[in-house]
Amino acid sequence: MKKTVNEQRQLLLDYGLKMLADGLTTGTGGNLSVALRSEGVIAITPSGIDYDKIKLDDISLINFDGLHIAGEKPSSEWQLHLKLYNLRPEIDAVVHTHSRFATTLALLHEPLPACHYLIGVAGCKEIRVAPYATFGTEELAAKTAAALGPNDRCILMANHGLIAVGKNLTSAYDTALYIEEVAELYHRATAIGKPVILSDLEMEQALLRFQDYGRNRKPTTRQ
Ligand code: 13P
Ligand code: ZN
Repeated sequence: MKKTVNEQRQLLLDYGLKMLADGLTTGTGGNLSVALRSEGVIAITPSGIDYDKIKLDDISLINFDGLHIAGEKPSSEWQLHLKLYNLRPEIDAVVHTHSRFATTLALLHEPLPACHYLIGVAGCKEIRVAPYATFGTEELAAKTAAALGPNDRCILMANHGLIAVGKNLTSAYDTALYIEEVAELYHRATAIGKPVILSDLEMEQALLRFQDYGRNRKPTTRQ
């Protein structure tokens, strides 16, 4: 069933609060958006308002040319969200966080390697780092979008944070959450030893398993 613009705005409010509760952000860090392609509209969290203070009508609406249509001033990263939607027609949600462990690696400009099979939720074998540019700029949008592999669903942003994309908000959010968890495990493991990194083949196999995992699973036909 098609969701209305206000239903999507409500979803953004809910996920903003979830982002706080799950410890993926503090204050006004990070931002979330959903694309309603048939309406030609992107709903995006407003700039610089605490997640627990945002009201439904504050959620900003912009069109695919980047014009502001309604709500408060859009997130300073609107160009980044827009670029990703224009580049990847299969994605309808973007989640950007400054979550602590993923960002720790981003400060080191170090990719998150395949230390756990869950890296596969992002559709790739490691989470790479996009080059640094000032937040809220066209340059950051261009560099980050260019660095994201054509099928990747997550990338670290140097000296900044993480961005995840997905076919809906639940999927993009879950990717951000799982990658943060793997980043924490990687940090803990490197503090006491040298984590074993899964081989290319092992990650290929994990990626194959993800294709029919959970909700992606196709129903089996009875003989
Ligand atoms: P906004 O409040 O403008 O979304 O900025 C937060 C942020 O994470 C900038 O990169
Ligand atoms: Zn940010």
